[in-house]
Amino acid sequence: MKSGERHDAIVIGAGIVGAACARTLSRDGLKVLVLDAAFAGGGTTAAGMGHIVLMDDSPEQLALTAYSAELWRELTPVLPRSVEMDPCGTIWVAEDDAQMDAVREKQRTYAAHDIPSETLSAARLHGLEPNLRSGLAGGLLVRGDAVLYPPAAALWLLEKARENGATIRESCRVDEIINGAVRVGTEVIEADVIVNAAGAEAGTLAPALPIVPRKGHLAISDRAPGFCRHQLVELGYLTSAHVMTNESVAFNVQPRSTGQVLIGSSRELVGWDGATNRRVLARMLERARLFMPGLSHLSIVRTWTGFRPATIDKLPLIGQYAANQWVAAGHEGLGITTSLGSAEILADLVAGRTPAIHAMPFSPMRSAVAAA
Ligand SMILES: Cc1cc2nc3c(=O)[nH]c(=O)nc-3n(C[C@H](O)[C@H](O)[C@H](O)COP(=O)(O)OP(=O)(O)OC[C@H]3O[C@@H](n4cnc5c(N)ncnc54)[C@H](O)[C@@H]3O)c2cc1C
Repeated sequence: MKSGERHDAIVIGAGIVGAACARTLSRDGLKVLVLDAAFAGGGTTAAGMGHIVLMDDSPEQLALTAYSAELWRELTPVLPRSVEMDPCGTIWVAEDDAQMDAVREKQRTYAAHDIPSETLSAARLHGLEPNLRSGLAGGLLVRGDAVLYPPAAALWLLEKARENGATIRESCRVDEIINGAVRVGTEVIEADVIVNAAGAEAGTLAPALPIVPRKGHLAISDRAPGFCRHQLVELGYLTSAHVMTNESVAFNVQPRSTGQVLIGSSRELVGWDGATNRRVLARMLERARLFMPGLSHLSIVRTWTGFRPATIDKLPLIGQYAANQWVAAGHEGLGITTSLGSAEILADLVAGRTPAIHAMPFSPMRSAVAAA
């Protein structure tokens, strides 16, 4: 049954990526409808860490994270307190001399892109983060990185879209994307542009899009203000995130504005099994205590899991993949960071403008994706 409603654009999914797309498309004057199967900001966005981080796994990843981080910096003065934007910076922690070589390599890459970073000696690292164990080799401080509270950021982006005239419907699952329309139960809603921003579920709606769920655990402690002052990540995290192994853990902790310590992270390829894996969780916490022994004295008040939307080449899918059908999904462990850049690129492509960074590496039609 046709609903009689007509929209310029329908965005499927009100996670941080869909919310950011709704904002840019509505800012461009499109009449936007956002549909979410559950509720806004409640999917992987609510399960993530909210680290706004530059990553240089590939030149394309660095371009998208740097572009997006700059967009977050521009927004910072107008973000409400609820978003908890904290420009705390990241310290990449090196365990030994070999990892210090990796630190210097990372710094050279950043310098080549005019991204400020600072190599830390062991003594300076300890001075900045006294709760790290002694005997570490040093680290790299990236002051421009930040942390925020992802669900509140998604709600704020949707609020901006609403101010531009967008409509948001929750508890509204899209069953099917048809050429030029979506079907919700028996209702068919038409639009010129349909954006699949369903996160890890994007591939369920469009099997041509090779996106798989990559499970992660997080744990949060009780309040211990000042326990850590930066987002702290072991250099080995890069391997954990990069290589598509069935299971990995890495030391990755974050200071929250509540004084709690958010502890990550793990990666598993186990389909849609969202149950806590006690063994993996124990490995993750053990890894964290290895770097910060004082964590043993804090209580863990909650643990949870979420599904990163993963692609074969670690880059998201942004662009058109069929008539009327567009996608902004597959951001794996970087969707909070890259939501803003992705949404600008998507809106540029929809409008026929040239995006600020090359969009081809993110095309859903790129060869790595087509071959998957
Ligand atoms: C443990 C963990 C830690 C992370 N840490 C970070 C970090 O520090 N920094 C960072 O940048 N990223 C991080 N991420 C990744 C980040 O959370 C994700 O990349 C991002 O949230 C993906 O956002 P999304 O909008 O694409 O998906 P989601 O937030 O999952 O939103 C998709 C929405 O689509 C809806 N939906 C699905 N199917 C349908 C349908 N058929 N019809 C209608 N609606 C539908 C869902 O209900 C959901 O609300 C982390 C992820 C995890 C799991």
